[in-house]
Amino acid sequence: MSMNMIAKEYVCPTCGEKMVLCERDDISDGYHWVCRQFGMNAHHVRRSARKGSWFDESKLSMPEILMITYLWAKKTSNEWIVDELSVSKPTVVDWKSFCREVCVDMLVNESKEMEMLGGVGVVVEIDESKFGKRKYNKGKQVNGKWVFGGVERGSKRSFYCVVEDRTAEMLIEITKKFVTPGSTVLSDCWGSYNGLTAEGYVHHTVNHSKNFKDPITGVHTNGIEGTRGAIKADFRKQGTRKVAGQFDTYLAEYM
Ligand SMILES: [Zn+2]
Repeated sequence: MSMNMIAKEYVCPTCGEKMVLCERDDISDGYHWVCRQFGMNAHHVRRSARKGSWFDESKLSMPEILMITYLWAKKTSNEWIVDELSVSKPTVVDWKSFCREVCVDMLVNESKEMEMLGGVGVVVEIDESKFGKRKYNKGKQVNGKWVFGGVERGSKRSFYCVVEDRTAEMLIEITKKFVTPGSTVLSDCWGSYNGLTAEGYVHHTVNHSKNFKDPITGVHTNGIEGTRGAIKADFRKQGTRKVAGQFDTYLAEYM
């Protein structure tokens, strides 16, 4: 509470009075919020001390979650955390994934106050990816959000932006907001990018799935690919093998 990680007070949703923090010896938090009224408007409302916080909706104790979060920040391997904290591997994988989602949110927020990237002769690589809390055992994510971003080659400057959809209108409007006209823009072959040339950008496409280097234009993706290499090496050290599929969040973590 003193570090603002859980709420300091709650108002009862039924009567609007402040709820009372009560000790409980049968739950790991040790406390929960209670409002108990008798008479006319009798009610008994209970609320978890961790409601709405980083710890919400987990079966782990708050100290366990804090420890996993700390060990993520210290780049500790999944195996080490499983052994030392006696938690399951899917739990560790989930929490590390949640931590990376926070990185995505931070990048998106920081981008709101960013100066424009690029310039004549400067290369900016842009890409759009789907993010969203992904649970280890629950298959593919359904309700993700599209995040559109770009990285300036030669610096680590980048922008990230949540977008409603991946239409040309949307992606080009945001590119214009973050990337100086005249910049060289590299993207994948997604059709929405076709209008970039008309907006004054030098536009090249790179087909990530087929070629490392575009056979016609000779365009490489050194920047992003170089970053991918560095990230993969980093995760090999940590013993994480399943980088594919969540690569976007690993990129955010790296940034
Ligand atoms: Zn009440």
